[in-house]
Amino acid sequence: MGHRDQSNPGSARNTPRAPAAPRPHPGPPAPPEPESLAPAVERWFAAAARDLPWRTHPRDPYRSLVSELMLQQTQVARVIDRFDAFVARFPTARALAAADEQEVLAEWSGLGYYRRARLLHACARAIVADHAGRVPTTAAELRSLPGIGAYTAGALASIVFGKPEPAVDGNVIRVLLRLHGSELAQDAPATRTWATDHARALAEAADDPGAVAEGLMELGATVCTPGAPKCDACPLRASCVARREGTTTTIPAPKTRAKVSALFCDSILDEDTRGRLLVERRPTAGMWGGLWQAPTLEQPDRAPTAADVRAFARARSVERVESFEHKTSHRLVRFRVWHATGARAGSLRVRRSRAQIAELGLSNPQRRILLGP
Ligand code: SF4
Repeated sequence: MGHRDQSNPGSARNTPRAPAAPRPHPGPPAPPEPESLAPAVERWFAAAARDLPWRTHPRDPYRSLVSELMLQQTQVARVIDRFDAFVARFPTARALAAADEQEVLAEWSGLGYYRRARLLHACARAIVADHAGRVPTTAAELRSLPGIGAYTAGALASIVFGKPEPAVDGNVIRVLLRLHGSELAQDAPATRTWATDHARALAEAADDPGAVAEGLMELGATVCTPGAPKCDACPLRASCVARREGTTTTIPAPKTRAKVSALFCDSILDEDTRGRLLVERRPTAGMWGGLWQAPTLEQPDRAPTAADVRAFARARSVERVESFEHKTSHRLVRFRVWHATGARAGSLRVRRSRAQIAELGLSNPQRRILLGP
């Protein structure tokens, strides 16, 4: 028996029956709302945030700046290895600004993408020259600094200074695409604009915009991972369209692969009787710009012959001792290492001890060649 019959039976019997109200059609579920998502991310991040050396309370603006530059295109574990030593050697923007570029590059060793080290150095100098040594607080001011793009400006403004700014990296794009069940291409410029709009709405709905910004990144890094997201541990699972529709493994759509070109690098190891090796400095522009290396013959199309290598080394003889490959985002670099006898130094090639070489800025493959794996 229905509730209406119980409460007023006479009325039901004596009056004409009104047509039943149409049942609401279930329709598509409501889209995820920032007002409910933002607090869920904030609560989850407060409980699940990893303990990382730059996550101090309160956040230190300079340490946060260094960590953001280091984390671009580099795994967290590798940054953890290098972060403390870097900020111990350059503890403030003023200390970094006053340092010599080679010192900065040497301290950056192992992190790769050395252009970021130069930009961080230039950034510190701009902070000293234009902002009295203090990291500026707004996204607009931050963006005017060398090396600071939209993502880094938004991350610093929100995480360090509590501004409702979006910070959209690859992890955040993946989370948002799945959350909304969107099949937009992950690497299309329009997708970044779409994701920035959604991240901004979340930041504006948050009590703590920094916790939402960093929480979304953390969620992408630890839960909503590329291969198999751990949806059962996700604070957004009740609202997630991809989870509901079973599309978590097909969203985001695969990236269009960048074309990878080959490069042949033949490096000369020539040690004199005092144990010093020949080294040279690369041109400032281009791959590994300004770093030091064993004298290296580079060819894009084919591996040089032993005669080519001997002529390049200006040596009496050369003997191949090692080969390995090194992948970058756009290149497959095939290294071959040659022991040379009687190679000559010159205006660009100088001799340095291994202890001196360890203090120079070196790419990872050249560190392996000159100092061993
Ligand atoms: S529910 Fe799953 S797919 Fe959706 S955002 Fe969370 S982890 Fe990602």
